[in-house]
Amino acid sequence: MLENKVAIITGGTRGIGYAIAKVYAQNKATVVILGSREESVSKALEKMHVDVPNAQVSGYYPNLCNEAEIEETFRKVHDQYGHIDILVNNAGVSARDRIYDYKVEDFEKTIDLNVNAVFVCSKVASKYMKEQGGGVILNTSSMVSIYGQPSGSAYPTSKFAVNGLTKSLARELGRDNIRVNAVAPGVTNTDMVSALPKEVIEPLIKTIPLGRVGEPEDVANAFLFLASDLASYITGVVLSVDGAAMS
Ligand code: NAD
Repeated sequence: MLENKVAIITGGTRGIGYAIAKVYAQNKATVVILGSREESVSKALEKMHVDVPNAQVSGYYPNLCNEAEIEETFRKVHDQYGHIDILVNNAGVSARDRIYDYKVEDFEKTIDLNVNAVFVCSKVASKYMKEQGGGVILNTSSMVSIYGQPSGSAYPTSKFAVNGLTKSLARELGRDNIRVNAVAPGVTNTDMVSALPKEVIEPLIKTIPLGRVGEPEDVANAFLFLASDLASYITGVVLSVDGAAMS
């Protein structure tokens, strides 16, 4: 479904991001994984060569909020492969702090990675996409972008902002043939969720009509569809992949 496409995936070293990288590679995309550290990027590349033996895959670990570093990284990708067709802004951190003890700098850190980095990467990638006549930008939102959550307010705030960026950039970039969509996962089986205690997870599962948490692959398949030409007239949507969960 993605033959001859070059895709950059932030937070592609594990969890949902790795599942997206894997299904893209299985569908013949050239995949560039961005992670936060050299070690985690190397491990992800090794794993990918085992999971998808013919994968065309490389990786970098720039600071996603630093425009100069992103410009340099995306230039390298463009020099190496000749185009940038798909950007997946997936890297993110969650938050649990109560408002009473919330440090402003902790609030800002979450907003920095979850929102500012999406802006920076989209800004740099969209210039290449415009030049080459089109592209696809996909963002990882969350079901908390609909319901909020009862602690760690920076996290839902950041995902509301991701939805806002998605819809606004879809309107701004449509004329340049750049589609912009988001996927809003529900509770998904990754490190982010395995850190939660059983007492939190089990009652949560009971509220999900499909009766289970999502797997990273459930979410990755939505990213595959939205990146592909099957979604050629879809832009500005936030697609829930959450088993009809209601927070
Ligand atoms: P994860 O913790 O397994 O993976 C997070 C990814 O983000 C990793 O690849 C990590 O390298 C990257 N990352 C973290 N901090 C970074 C930094 N400072 N710089 C660069 N990269 C950094 O989590 P996940 O569950 O796979 O989350 C991926 C996305 O899905 C996030 O945007 C998250 O908000 C969203 N999400 C997750 C769930 C869930 O239940 N797991 C639900 C809704 C949305």
